[in-house]
Amino acid sequence: MDLTTNYLRSVDSNENIDIAILVNNIILDAVGQQSSDIHVEPWENTIAVRIRVSGILQELTHLPLELLDRITGRIKVMADLVTYESELPQEGRAPASPEFGNVELRVSVFPTVRGEKVVVRLFDPRNRSFDLKTLGFEPDTLEQFMKLIRRPSGLILLNGPTGSGKTTAIYSALCHLVETHGPTVSISTVEDPVEFNLPMISQSQISNSRGFTYPKALRSLMRQDPEAIMIGEIRDPETASIAVQAGLTGHMVISTIHSDSTAGVYARLINMNIEPFLLASSIAGVLGLRLLRTICEHCKVEAQPNSEQLGLLPDEFVQTTTFYTGQGCDHCADTGYHGRVAVTELLMSDEVTREGVIQKMRTRKLRDLAIDQGMTTLWQNALAKVQRGVTSMDEVVRVVAVDQL
Ligand SMILES: [Zn+2]
Repeated sequence: MDLTTNYLRSVDSNENIDIAILVNNIILDAVGQQSSDIHVEPWENTIAVRIRVSGILQELTHLPLELLDRITGRIKVMADLVTYESELPQEGRAPASPEFGNVELRVSVFPTVRGEKVVVRLFDPRNRSFDLKTLGFEPDTLEQFMKLIRRPSGLILLNGPTGSGKTTAIYSALCHLVETHGPTVSISTVEDPVEFNLPMISQSQISNSRGFTYPKALRSLMRQDPEAIMIGEIRDPETASIAVQAGLTGHMVISTIHSDSTAGVYARLINMNIEPFLLASSIAGVLGLRLLRTICEHCKVEAQPNSEQLGLLPDEFVQTTTFYTGQGCDHCADTGYHGRVAVTELLMSDEVTREGVIQKMRTRKLRDLAIDQGMTTLWQNALAKVQRGVTSMDEVVRVVAVDQL
Protein backbone atom coordinates (compact mmCIF):
# COMPACT_ATOMS: atom_id res chain seq x y z
CA MET A 1 0.00 0.00 0.00
CA ASP A 2 1.19 3.53 -0.65
CA LEU A 3 2.53 5.77 2.13
CA THR A 4 -0.19 8.40 1.69
CA THR A 5 -3.07 5.94 2.24
CA ASN A 6 -1.20 4.37 5.15
CA TYR A 7 -0.70 7.73 6.78
CA LEU A 8 -4.31 8.83 6.29
CA ARG A 9 -5.49 5.61 7.92
CA SER A 10 -3.24 6.23 10.91
CA VAL A 11 -4.83 9.57 11.85
CA ASP A 12 -8.30 9.74 13.39
CA SER A 13 -9.48 13.16 12.22
CA ASN A 14 -8.67 15.82 9.63
CA GLU A 15 -7.50 18.23 12.35
CA ASN A 16 -4.79 15.78 13.37
CA ILE A 17 -3.30 15.50 9.90
CA ASP A 18 0.25 16.80 9.84
CA ILE A 19 0.36 18.56 6.46
CA ALA A 20 4.15 18.34 6.14
CA ILE A 21 4.03 14.56 6.58
CA LEU A 22 1.07 14.24 4.21
CA VAL A 23 2.76 16.26 1.45
CA ASN A 24 6.03 14.38 1.94
CA ASN A 25 4.21 11.06 1.62
CA ILE A 26 2.50 12.16 -1.59
CA ILE A 27 5.86 13.14 -3.07
CA LEU A 28 7.51 9.91 -1.89
CA ASP A 29 4.69 7.83 -3.42
CA ALA A 30 5.05 9.71 -6.70
CA VAL A 31 8.82 9.19 -6.68
CA GLY A 32 8.38 5.52 -5.73
CA GLN A 33 6.13 4.96 -8.73
CA GLN A 34 8.56 6.80 -11.03
CA SER A 35 5.96 9.36 -11.98
CA SER A 36 6.78 12.56 -13.83
CA ASP A 37 4.14 14.87 -12.31
CA ILE A 38 1.85 15.25 -9.32
CA HIS A 39 -1.49 17.03 -9.77
CA VAL A 40 -3.22 18.40 -6.67
CA GLU A 41 -6.53 19.67 -7.92
CA PRO A 42 -9.67 20.89 -6.14
CA TRP A 43 -12.71 19.11 -7.60
CA GLU A 44 -16.32 19.58 -6.61
CA ASN A 45 -16.26 17.55 -3.40
CA THR A 46 -12.64 16.48 -2.90
CA ILE A 47 -9.06 17.35 -3.65
CA ALA A 48 -7.97 14.90 -6.32
CA VAL A 49 -4.33 13.88 -6.03
CA ARG A 50 -3.15 12.27 -9.24
CA ILE A 51 0.24 11.20 -10.56
CA ARG A 52 1.42 10.77 -14.12
CA VAL A 53 3.11 7.40 -14.68
CA SER A 54 4.50 6.54 -18.14
CA GLY A 55 2.51 9.42 -19.59
CA ILE A 56 -0.85 8.43 -18.09
CA LEU A 57 -2.55 10.22 -15.19
CA GLN A 58 -3.77 7.97 -12.39
CA GLU A 59 -5.40 8.65 -9.04
CA LEU A 60 -3.23 8.43 -5.95
CA THR A 61 -5.80 9.55 -3.40
CA HIS A 62 -8.62 11.97 -2.63
CA LEU A 63 -8.46 14.39 0.29
CA PRO A 64 -11.05 16.57 2.03
CA LEU A 65 -11.42 19.98 0.37
CA GLU A 66 -10.89 21.76 3.70
CA LEU A 67 -7.19 20.77 3.56
CA LEU A 68 -6.58 22.62 0.30
CA ASP A 69 -5.16 25.87 1.66
CA ARG A 70 -2.86 24.07 4.06
CA ILE A 71 -1.56 21.74 1.33
CA THR A 72 -0.95 24.49 -1.24
CA GLY A 73 0.59 26.61 1.53
CA ARG A 74 2.99 23.81 2.44
CA ILE A 75 4.04 23.25 -1.20
CA LYS A 76 4.53 27.00 -1.68
CA VAL A 77 6.87 27.09 1.31
CA MET A 78 8.86 24.18 -0.11
CA ALA A 79 9.20 25.94 -3.48
CA ASP A 80 9.96 29.33 -1.95
CA LEU A 81 6.79 30.98 -3.31
CA VAL A 82 4.66 33.78 -1.85
CA THR A 83 2.29 31.97 0.51
CA TYR A 84 -0.35 34.73 0.80
CA GLU A 85 -0.69 35.14 -2.98
CA SER A 86 -3.51 32.91 -4.17
CA GLU A 87 -4.99 34.79 -7.12
CA LEU A 88 -2.08 34.80 -9.53
CA PRO A 89 -0.11 31.89 -11.00
CA GLN A 90 3.30 31.22 -9.45
CA GLU A 91 6.23 29.05 -10.43
CA GLY A 92 9.12 27.87 -8.33
CA ARG A 93 11.36 24.98 -7.54
CA ALA A 94 12.64 22.97 -4.64
CA PRO A 95 16.18 21.70 -5.20
CA ALA A 96 16.90 17.98 -5.15
CA SER A 97 17.20 16.63 -1.64
CA PRO A 98 18.08 13.15 -0.37
CA GLU A 99 14.75 13.18 1.49
CA PHE A 100 12.98 12.70 -1.85
CA GLY A 101 15.58 10.47 -3.44
CA ASN A 102 17.41 13.43 -5.02
CA VAL A 103 14.43 14.38 -7.12
CA GLU A 104 14.09 18.07 -7.95
CA LEU A 105 10.59 19.58 -7.71
CA ARG A 106 9.34 22.17 -10.21
CA VAL A 107 6.16 23.66 -8.80
CA SER A 108 3.43 25.47 -10.71
CA VAL A 109 0.48 26.98 -8.80
CA PHE A 110 -2.54 28.13 -10.77
CA PRO A 111 -5.72 29.81 -9.45
CA THR A 112 -9.02 28.12 -10.37
CA VAL A 113 -12.58 29.01 -9.32
CA ARG A 114 -12.41 26.23 -6.72
CA GLY A 115 -9.05 27.28 -5.31
CA GLU A 116 -5.45 26.77 -6.35
CA LYS A 117 -4.38 23.83 -8.46
CA VAL A 118 -0.81 22.69 -7.97
CA VAL A 119 1.26 20.68 -10.40
CA VAL A 120 4.65 19.43 -9.28
CA ARG A 121 6.99 18.17 -11.95
CA LEU A 122 9.57 15.67 -10.73
CA PHE A 123 13.04 15.66 -12.22
CA ASP A 124 14.94 12.53 -11.38
CA PRO A 125 18.43 12.51 -12.88
CA ARG A 126 19.02 8.90 -11.81
CA ASN A 127 16.23 7.58 -13.97
CA ARG A 128 17.44 9.20 -17.10
CA SER A 129 19.80 7.52 -19.44
CA PHE A 130 21.20 9.56 -22.24
CA ASP A 131 22.32 6.75 -24.49
CA LEU A 132 20.79 6.82 -27.97
CA LYS A 133 21.05 3.03 -28.14
CA THR A 134 18.65 2.53 -25.23
CA LEU A 135 15.78 4.68 -26.48
CA GLY A 136 14.22 1.97 -28.61
CA PHE A 137 14.90 3.36 -32.09
CA GLU A 138 14.67 0.73 -34.81
CA PRO A 139 18.24 -0.22 -35.91
CA ASP A 140 18.19 1.48 -39.33
CA THR A 141 16.72 4.71 -37.88
CA LEU A 142 19.35 4.68 -35.15
CA GLU A 143 22.15 4.32 -37.69
CA GLN A 144 20.77 7.10 -39.90
CA PHE A 145 20.18 9.43 -36.97
CA MET A 146 23.72 8.91 -35.64
CA LYS A 147 25.09 9.74 -39.07
CA LEU A 148 22.97 12.89 -39.12
CA ILE A 149 24.22 14.24 -35.81
CA ARG A 150 27.84 13.58 -36.70
CA ARG A 151 27.54 15.91 -39.67
CA PRO A 152 29.60 19.08 -39.33
CA SER A 153 26.70 21.38 -40.20
CA GLY A 154 22.98 21.52 -40.80
CA LEU A 155 19.76 21.72 -38.88
CA ILE A 156 18.21 18.65 -37.24
CA LEU A 157 14.68 19.07 -35.90
CA LEU A 158 12.76 16.85 -33.51
CA ASN A 159 9.01 16.89 -33.55
CA GLY A 160 6.36 15.41 -31.28
CA PRO A 161 3.83 16.39 -28.62
CA THR A 162 4.85 17.29 -25.06
CA GLY A 163 6.13 14.22 -23.25
CA SER A 164 7.13 12.36 -26.42
CA GLY A 165 10.77 11.97 -25.41
CA LYS A 166 12.25 14.89 -27.39
CA THR A 167 14.47 16.16 -24.56
CA THR A 168 15.82 12.70 -23.79
CA ALA A 169 16.56 12.09 -27.48
CA ILE A 170 18.27 15.46 -27.89
CA TYR A 171 20.38 15.02 -24.74
CA SER A 172 21.32 11.55 -25.93
CA ALA A 173 22.37 13.00 -29.29
CA LEU A 174 24.59 15.58 -27.57
CA CYS A 175 26.11 12.90 -25.31
CA HIS A 176 26.80 10.84 -28.41
CA LEU A 177 28.70 13.80 -29.90
CA VAL A 178 30.75 14.16 -26.72
CA GLU A 179 31.52 10.44 -26.74
CA THR A 180 32.51 10.53 -30.40
CA HIS A 181 34.62 13.68 -30.36
CA GLY A 182 35.68 14.06 -26.73
CA PRO A 183 37.22 17.44 -25.87
CA THR A 184 37.64 18.43 -29.54
CA VAL A 185 34.02 19.53 -29.89
CA SER A 186 32.47 22.67 -28.41
CA ILE A 187 28.78 22.23 -27.62
CA SER A 188 26.45 24.94 -26.30
CA THR A 189 22.77 24.84 -25.46
CA VAL A 190 20.06 27.40 -24.78
CA GLU A 191 17.09 25.85 -23.03
CA ASP A 192 13.89 26.71 -21.23
CA PRO A 193 14.32 25.10 -18.75
CA VAL A 194 17.63 23.21 -18.46
CA GLU A 195 16.37 19.81 -17.36
CA PHE A 196 19.65 18.05 -16.59
CA ASN A 197 23.25 19.08 -16.39
CA LEU A 198 25.28 17.29 -19.01
CA PRO A 199 29.02 16.71 -18.78
CA MET A 200 31.32 18.73 -21.12
CA ILE A 201 28.46 20.86 -22.48
CA SER A 202 27.74 24.55 -21.80
CA GLN A 203 24.05 24.82 -20.99
CA SER A 204 22.21 28.12 -20.58
CA GLN A 205 18.78 28.81 -19.24
CA ILE A 206 16.57 31.32 -21.06
CA SER A 207 14.95 33.96 -18.87
CA ASN A 208 12.29 35.95 -20.70
CA SER A 209 11.61 38.10 -17.62
CA ARG A 210 15.21 39.34 -17.71
CA GLY A 211 15.18 39.74 -21.49
CA PHE A 212 17.51 36.77 -22.03
CA THR A 213 15.37 35.41 -24.85
CA TYR A 214 16.18 32.70 -27.39
CA PRO A 215 17.12 35.20 -30.15
CA LYS A 216 19.27 37.27 -27.80
CA ALA A 217 21.04 34.22 -26.40
CA LEU A 218 21.63 32.73 -29.83
CA ARG A 219 23.07 35.90 -31.36
CA SER A 220 25.67 36.06 -28.57
CA LEU A 221 26.25 32.34 -28.68
CA MET A 222 27.39 32.56 -32.29
CA ARG A 223 30.41 34.50 -31.01
CA GLN A 224 31.26 31.68 -28.59
CA ASP A 225 32.74 29.58 -31.40
CA PRO A 226 30.54 26.50 -30.96
CA GLU A 227 30.54 23.50 -33.30
CA ALA A 228 27.19 22.20 -32.15
CA ILE A 229 24.26 24.20 -30.79
CA MET A 230 21.15 22.89 -29.12
CA ILE A 231 18.12 25.18 -29.04
CA GLY A 232 15.41 24.02 -26.64
CA GLU A 233 12.57 24.96 -28.95
CA ILE A 234 11.99 27.01 -32.08
CA ARG A 235 8.77 28.90 -31.45
CA ASP A 236 9.19 32.31 -33.09
CA PRO A 237 10.37 33.58 -36.50
CA GLU A 238 13.51 35.22 -35.13
CA THR A 239 14.77 32.05 -33.46
CA ALA A 240 13.89 30.08 -36.59
CA SER A 241 15.87 32.47 -38.76
CA ILE A 242 18.97 32.34 -36.53
CA ALA A 243 18.79 28.54 -36.35
CA VAL A 244 18.64 28.27 -40.14
CA GLN A 245 21.54 30.72 -40.59
CA ALA A 246 23.64 28.85 -38.02
CA GLY A 247 22.95 25.57 -39.80
CA LEU A 248 24.05 27.12 -43.10
CA THR A 249 27.26 28.59 -41.70
CA GLY A 250 29.08 25.52 -40.47
CA HIS A 251 27.27 24.65 -37.25
CA MET A 252 25.40 21.53 -36.30
CA VAL A 253 22.13 22.79 -34.87
CA ILE A 254 19.65 20.53 -33.13
CA SER A 255 16.29 21.71 -31.87
CA THR A 256 12.60 20.88 -31.44
CA ILE A 257 9.57 22.40 -33.09
CA HIS A 258 5.84 21.86 -32.72
CA SER A 259 3.77 20.79 -35.70
CA ASP A 260 1.14 18.12 -36.15
CA SER A 261 3.36 15.88 -38.25
CA THR A 262 6.97 15.26 -39.18
CA ALA A 263 6.61 16.57 -42.73
CA GLY A 264 4.51 19.47 -41.38
CA VAL A 265 7.66 20.99 -39.84
CA TYR A 266 8.54 22.56 -43.22
CA ALA A 267 5.15 24.29 -43.55
CA ARG A 268 5.45 25.52 -39.95
CA LEU A 269 8.82 27.13 -40.74
CA ILE A 270 7.56 28.61 -44.01
CA ASN A 271 4.77 30.17 -41.91
CA MET A 272 7.53 31.69 -39.78
CA ASN A 273 8.70 33.50 -42.91
CA ILE A 274 11.69 31.30 -43.67
CA GLU A 275 12.33 31.07 -47.41
CA PRO A 276 11.79 27.52 -48.70
CA PHE A 277 15.19 27.46 -50.44
CA LEU A 278 16.89 28.25 -47.12
CA LEU A 279 14.99 25.41 -45.44
CA ALA A 280 15.88 23.04 -48.24
CA SER A 281 19.57 23.79 -47.89
CA SER A 282 19.77 23.95 -44.09
CA ILE A 283 17.57 21.12 -42.80
CA ALA A 284 19.42 17.82 -42.72
CA GLY A 285 16.60 15.78 -41.25
CA VAL A 286 13.43 15.81 -39.16
CA LEU A 287 12.79 13.17 -36.52
CA GLY A 288 9.19 12.55 -35.46
CA LEU A 289 8.95 10.99 -32.01
CA ARG A 290 6.33 9.36 -29.79
CA LEU A 291 6.57 7.15 -26.72
CA LEU A 292 4.78 3.82 -26.52
CA ARG A 293 4.22 2.07 -23.21
CA THR A 294 5.78 -1.39 -23.14
CA ILE A 295 3.81 -4.44 -21.98
CA CYS A 296 4.52 -5.54 -18.39
CA GLU A 297 6.54 -8.77 -18.55
CA HIS A 298 4.82 -10.13 -15.42
CA CYS A 299 1.27 -10.17 -16.78
CA LYS A 300 1.81 -10.39 -20.54
CA VAL A 301 -0.73 -12.59 -22.33
CA GLU A 302 -1.66 -13.34 -25.91
CA ALA A 303 -4.71 -11.34 -27.03
CA GLN A 304 -6.19 -10.76 -30.46
CA PRO A 305 -6.85 -7.07 -31.28
CA ASN A 306 -10.47 -5.96 -31.78
CA SER A 307 -12.00 -5.96 -35.25
CA GLU A 308 -11.56 -2.21 -35.72
CA GLN A 309 -7.83 -2.52 -35.04
CA LEU A 310 -7.53 -5.62 -37.24
CA GLY A 311 -9.12 -3.60 -40.04
CA LEU A 312 -6.14 -1.24 -39.94
CA LEU A 313 -3.64 -4.03 -40.51
CA PRO A 314 -2.57 -5.85 -43.67
CA ASP A 315 -3.75 -9.49 -43.75
CA GLU A 316 -0.21 -10.79 -43.93
CA PHE A 317 0.74 -8.86 -40.79
CA VAL A 318 -2.23 -10.32 -38.88
CA GLN A 319 -1.42 -13.85 -40.02
CA THR A 320 2.25 -13.70 -39.07
CA THR A 321 1.96 -11.81 -35.76
CA THR A 322 1.23 -13.06 -32.26
CA PHE A 323 -0.44 -10.14 -30.48
CA TYR A 324 0.05 -9.49 -26.78
CA THR A 325 -1.34 -7.26 -24.07
CA GLY A 326 -0.85 -6.81 -20.32
CA GLN A 327 -3.60 -8.06 -18.01
CA GLY A 328 -2.51 -5.89 -15.09
CA CYS A 329 -0.76 -7.08 -11.93
CA ASP A 330 0.99 -5.82 -8.79
CA HIS A 331 4.19 -5.09 -10.72
CA CYS A 332 2.50 -2.57 -13.03
CA ALA A 333 -0.12 -1.03 -10.71
CA ASP A 334 -2.74 -2.95 -12.72
CA THR A 335 -2.06 -0.99 -15.89
CA GLY A 336 -0.59 -3.86 -17.92
CA TYR A 337 2.38 -1.70 -18.91
CA HIS A 338 5.81 -0.99 -17.50
CA GLY A 339 8.27 1.47 -19.03
CA ARG A 340 8.22 3.12 -22.42
CA VAL A 341 10.00 2.91 -25.73
CA ALA A 342 10.49 5.50 -28.46
CA VAL A 343 8.86 5.11 -31.83
CA THR A 344 10.22 7.28 -34.62
CA GLU A 345 9.87 8.56 -38.15
CA LEU A 346 13.03 10.00 -39.70
CA LEU A 347 12.58 12.28 -42.69
CA MET A 348 16.03 12.54 -44.27
CA SER A 349 16.65 15.51 -46.47
CA ASP A 350 17.71 14.38 -49.95
CA GLU A 351 17.63 15.86 -53.43
CA VAL A 352 14.03 14.82 -54.06
CA THR A 353 12.58 16.10 -50.77
CA ARG A 354 14.61 19.32 -51.05
CA GLU A 355 13.04 19.93 -54.46
CA GLY A 356 9.59 19.33 -52.90
CA VAL A 357 10.32 21.87 -50.17
CA ILE A 358 11.49 24.50 -52.67
CA GLN A 359 8.23 23.99 -54.57
CA LYS A 360 6.30 24.52 -51.29
CA MET A 361 4.73 21.11 -51.70
CA ARG A 362 1.72 20.42 -49.42
CA THR A 363 2.57 18.52 -46.24
CA ARG A 364 0.68 15.35 -47.21
CA LYS A 365 2.41 15.24 -50.59
CA LEU A 366 5.82 15.90 -49.06
CA ARG A 367 5.21 13.04 -46.66
CA ASP A 368 4.29 10.67 -49.53
CA LEU A 369 7.44 11.77 -51.31
CA ALA A 370 9.55 10.99 -48.24
CA ILE A 371 7.89 7.56 -47.99
CA ASP A 372 8.75 6.92 -51.65
CA GLN A 373 12.32 7.85 -50.78
CA GLY A 374 12.37 5.17 -48.09
CA MET A 375 11.07 6.83 -44.93
CA THR A 376 9.63 4.29 -42.49
CA THR A 377 6.57 5.88 -40.87
CA LEU A 378 5.70 6.10 -37.17
CA TRP A 379 2.93 3.62 -37.85
CA GLN A 380 5.25 1.10 -39.52
CA ASN A 381 7.86 1.44 -36.78
CA ALA A 382 5.17 1.04 -34.12
CA LEU A 383 3.90 -2.13 -35.83
CA ALA A 384 7.44 -3.52 -35.76
CA LYS A 385 7.23 -3.26 -31.97
CA VAL A 386 3.84 -5.00 -31.94
CA GLN A 387 5.36 -7.79 -34.02
CA ARG A 388 8.10 -8.25 -31.44
CA GLY A 389 5.57 -8.35 -28.60
CA VAL A 390 6.96 -5.14 -27.06
CA THR A 391 3.68 -3.23 -27.09
CA SER A 392 -0.01 -3.73 -27.82
CA MET A 393 -2.29 -2.59 -30.65
CA ASP A 394 -4.29 -0.59 -28.06
CA GLU A 395 -1.19 1.42 -27.28
CA VAL A 396 -0.24 1.96 -30.93
CA VAL A 397 -3.72 3.23 -31.76
CA ARG A 398 -3.70 5.47 -28.66
CA VAL A 399 -0.35 7.08 -29.47
CA VAL A 400 0.02 7.09 -33.25
CA ALA A 401 -2.81 8.94 -34.95
CA VAL A 402 -4.58 6.78 -37.48
CA ASP A 403 -4.23 9.50 -40.11
CA GLN A 404 -0.51 8.77 -40.00
CA LEU A 405 -1.15 5.21 -41.09
ZN1 LIG B 1 1.82 -6.35 -14.86
